[in-house]
Amino acid sequence: MAVRKLNKLRVVKRKCCGCGKVKPRDDMIKITYNKQLDSVQVEPDSFFIGRSAYICRNNGCFFEAFKKGKFYKILKCRQDDKLKEKIRAVLEK
Ligand SMILES: [Zn+2]
Repeated sequence: MAVRKLNKLRVVKRKCCGCGKVKPRDDMIKITYNKQLDSVQVEPDSFFIGRSAYICRNNGCFFEAFKKGKFYKILKCRQDDKLKEKIRAVLEK
C-alpha cells in the first residue's frame, strides 16, 4: 500500500473527557499519568510517557470531567485535588 504523504498535514484530534467531543489537540489541555513514576503532568513535554486524557479549554468541560471522578477513571490514577487545581490554573491562563 502506498504511503499517503498527506498524513503529516492532518490535524491531530483528541477526545475530550468532559463533553466527549473530538477536537484539535491544540484546543485542549493534555494530562498524562505515568504509572511507573506514579506522577501526573499537566501539558507534559514530549519525553513524559504515559496514559493521557484531554480536556477542552473551558470551564464546562473541566467541571464535567471531574464530575463523579470520570477524569480519574479515564486516566486510571487516584483522585487528587492538587492535580485538579493545577489543571484549573492552566485553564485560567
Ligand atoms: Zn470538551
